[in-house]
Amino acid sequence: MKKFTKSLSLAFFLFVQGAVAQTMAEKITQEAKENSQLEKLAFELMDGIGPRLVGSPQMQQAGDWALGKYKEWGITSRTEKWGEWRGWERGVSHIDMVYPRVKSLEGMQLAWSPGTKGKAVVAETVIVPDLADSLAFQKWLPTVKGKFVMISMKQPTGRPDYNWQEFATKESFEKMKTQRDAETEAWNKRISKTGYTTRTLPLALEKAGAAGIIMSYWSRGFGANKIFGAVAKTIPTVDISLEDYATLYRLTEAGIKPKLSVQTESKDLGVVPAFNVIAEIKGTEKPDEYVILSAHFDSWDGGTGATDNGTGTIVMMEAMRILKKLYPNPKRTILVGHWGSEEQGLNGSRAFVEDHPEIVKGLQALFNQDNGTGRVINLSGQGFLNAYDYLGRWLSKVPKEVSQHVETRFPGAPGAGGSDFASFVAAGAPAFSLSSLNWSYGTYTWHTNRDTYDKIVFDDVRNNVIMAAIMAYEASEDPATTSREKSVLPLNAKGEPGTWPAQRSPTRKGGLD
Ligand SMILES: [Zn+2]
Repeated sequence: MKKFTKSLSLAFFLFVQGAVAQTMAEKITQEAKENSQLEKLAFELMDGIGPRLVGSPQMQQAGDWALGKYKEWGITSRTEKWGEWRGWERGVSHIDMVYPRVKSLEGMQLAWSPGTKGKAVVAETVIVPDLADSLAFQKWLPTVKGKFVMISMKQPTGRPDYNWQEFATKESFEKMKTQRDAETEAWNKRISKTGYTTRTLPLALEKAGAAGIIMSYWSRGFGANKIFGAVAKTIPTVDISLEDYATLYRLTEAGIKPKLSVQTESKDLGVVPAFNVIAEIKGTEKPDEYVILSAHFDSWDGGTGATDNGTGTIVMMEAMRILKKLYPNPKRTILVGHWGSEEQGLNGSRAFVEDHPEIVKGLQALFNQDNGTGRVINLSGQGFLNAYDYLGRWLSKVPKEVSQHVETRFPGAPGAGGSDFASFVAAGAPAFSLSSLNWSYGTYTWHTNRDTYDKIVFDDVRNNVIMAAIMAYEASEDPATTSREKSVLPLNAKGEPGTWPAQRSPTRKGGLD
């Protein structure tokens, strides 16, 4: 009995001591794992609100939602308007082949496409022809009147390369690639012979009276197409899946004259504010020095922007929630930037850098995440000579289960674009990218119609929350202010000394004539 009591009290002692000795990194890890809000945040943002195209009501709604979350967590937040954008709201896209047989097609209108005014437009399809030159094209142009014009090539295969690699003979895989390269080159030539580019051709077709623009931007994965913005202003532009587009193409080419019925709806909403959502936990010792958590908030709208950049967004929100709970009085100010209009050229973050020189001046470190749902595997020093020292020290505090995946590169090269950290790097401020394992990001989810909740790998996202929150904590606590000394950059391709990327101004008025 006595022995039992003794061992029990020893166990209790160890337990208490263990609790007292729990490091901040351990506390953060525990909170991230045992009280994760990620699934809920992802559901509310991706399923409830949906994609967050700049200027859309959903972007506005997402902004209000984020403010509500921060309020709930006791974190001060605000929206910061930095510009204006064309307001547009996506409505339905109904695309059906009605001749020679009936089939509903998988496709959708591009962002900013005008609607068909409440009715379906039924018309024949025609393919941009292979003509001798722009003169011949001008002669042909009037024949598009009242027709849907197909402006993309027909892909020779709807199977991604990895599928060919697995099943094809070596010879047929090589043959397919050679054929595809030749057909791609021929198609590009066909377009350039019209005298237009892929940007200007839709406008010429619209002017000539076409009923609509039909395209297919295959993303090289089963069922995945990239969905960007329309160029034509009065007629609809729709993207159709590779499978359905290729069917239409073959039927059109065979002279069968298929007919499409297209009904698209959308609302033009005039001029609306473009904004960032900012939240912060004020520093107690050095309030004018900043640790920034960064992730763009906007998305393209073919899917729901789940991995670009819903995952980056919820990583930073969850990290803020955890920091507020466990570290409510940070040494330095911890600020989160949910940037608007990254997709049109890092506009929100460029505006922030321009509008807040005092914050950029006081930046201790910024951590951005923006390349998908994967766990962080790369961390570059972005050309800052001493980044190895502070990033290395902070990273050593991240639990092995998270840090073991991370390969560091020091001093690394300054990022000139790609995502919002580059806006700060250009201003000479220590900003870093938490770069993810790709999970087929480039083909399947990046800017595609397949960028949806089901693609989120929550264990990897949770891993990134732990990383972001601990790095922010360590950056905030560091007794030293980070060095901004730049490394000597390697020679560029021309053999000239490398130069640091230049700071650029944002587009503050977008999509408006
Ligand atoms: Zn992105």
